[in-house]
Amino acid sequence: MKKLDFRSDTVSLPTSEMRQSMLNAEVGDDTMRDDPTVIALEENCASLFGKEEAVFMASGTMANQVAVMLLTSRGEEIILGDTSHLYNLEVGGLAALSQVQAKCISATKRLYDPTDIDEAFRGKGIQFARTSLLCLENAKDLNRGFAVPVDNLQEVADIAHQHGARVYVDGARILNAACALNVDVKDLVSMADVCSLVFTKALGSPFGAVLMGSHELMQEARWLKQRLGGGFRQIGFMAAPALYALEHLVERIHIDHENAQILARGLNDLGLLDGALEDIDISIVIGNCSKLKQSALNFSEQLKKHDLLVKPISENNFRMITHIGLEKEDVFDALNRIESAM
Ligand SMILES: *Cc1c(COP(=O)(O)O)cnc(C)c1O
Repeated sequence: MKKLDFRSDTVSLPTSEMRQSMLNAEVGDDTMRDDPTVIALEENCASLFGKEEAVFMASGTMANQVAVMLLTSRGEEIILGDTSHLYNLEVGGLAALSQVQAKCISATKRLYDPTDIDEAFRGKGIQFARTSLLCLENAKDLNRGFAVPVDNLQEVADIAHQHGARVYVDGARILNAACALNVDVKDLVSMADVCSLVFTKALGSPFGAVLMGSHELMQEARWLKQRLGGGFRQIGFMAAPALYALEHLVERIHIDHENAQILARGLNDLGLLDGALEDIDISIVIGNCSKLKQSALNFSEQLKKHDLLVKPISENNFRMITHIGLEKEDVFDALNRIESAM
């Protein structure tokens, strides 16, 4: 039986073309800006996103942390979603590295609430922290993957800019959002001072992310990245599969979304879908096993016996993500295995 791994899109393995691209990559010492493959990747990203410059980072976490270090000073406050990766899954980096405090807004719906964000900015009195940054996420809410439309991003970014703050868009899965919304990814980041993209999620690459923005900001970002130990040498070997993915795999992201729809409908028929079918924008589907009278952890252990891996995310919920390593047939197969395990 084929092992089916739906825990995350990060579990996908590089394709043979990606491996070939690594083998053939032209490389050099990137700290000296001598790696032609990294330069090609950075130029390709900057042009795809309509930003002046891109900087190759080790991970989405590194891109996020460098972004906050870049756009804040010690003791300032930043506004971010309570469900965001930056707030929840980055080892306290905001406090440890940037020494800023977080003001969380509720981010469990598809849209950001402009009133919430406006009210999160503090007054200007001597006793208040300065609010210098609004961090958005698109796709939004790591366990949901809502595709946030341009209008909503523009509206809340305008509010932040009026308050004198800057705007960062964590775009780990922004190419999924662009695909789901059928818009040019440039339009999803035009209101952002700085934005990111991760190569190890939908793009199925083994390594890396990019941070993007103006030439001036990215010069500073390179310096901060170096401080964190991100001074790479012949890293073109790891930029090559990302470049390959950007050139060849962006156009297949819709397949993951179609597979997620099939998966969601199947789970819904089994009474195991959490939330509504309309809530599924990208490749992420949440299951709810409360009707089985067992915990998500327990149920995931049962599924493991059928060679099906899912990720328990709470007492009742488990997460499944479609990706480049899973075909449509695998989704039907997974649904059959879920039914037998029930
Ligand atoms: C995965 C993810 C990150 C972190 O990326 P890593 O490469 O795993 O460090 C950041 N933000 C969001 C929204 C993510 O989904």
